[in-house]
Amino acid sequence: MFSTIKRLWSWLWRPAPAPPPAAPRYIRPFRNVETVDTQAAATIAVEKRDAIALVEGAKGLKSVAFRCPCGCGEIRRVNTSPSIAPCWGVKVSGGRVSLHPSVDLTSGCRAHFVLKDNMAIMLP
Ligand SMILES: [Zn+2]
Repeated sequence: MFSTIKRLWSWLWRPAPAPPPAAPRYIRPFRNVETVDTQAAATIAVEKRDAIALVEGAKGLKSVAFRCPCGCGEIRRVNTSPSIAPCWGVKVSGGRVSLHPSVDLTSGCRAHFVLKDNMAIMLP
């Protein structure tokens, strides 16, 4: 009897469960990465082959294009040319593309996401 009360007591006063870690809402992987030399070629790569298109210019990478990871269907073009603001940092390593910082759209679908190793992780 006493042990039952003791168990009930400890059950009632058990510590609150830890809140789950702030999990990303949604992750969208991109399976293909293509290097192209025009925005038109980037559009084709993104629309036909669901790729991340790296638009290469004479002075290096100009921009990164891909379908908006929220699913709205828009093509996002992120500037990576330092001569134009705003400019994102891009890392291409082993065929995987990462952008820094996150892309936070202020109009349209208002998606906020980070692209890391070909994975778009939606942020609140
Ligand atoms: Zn979107």
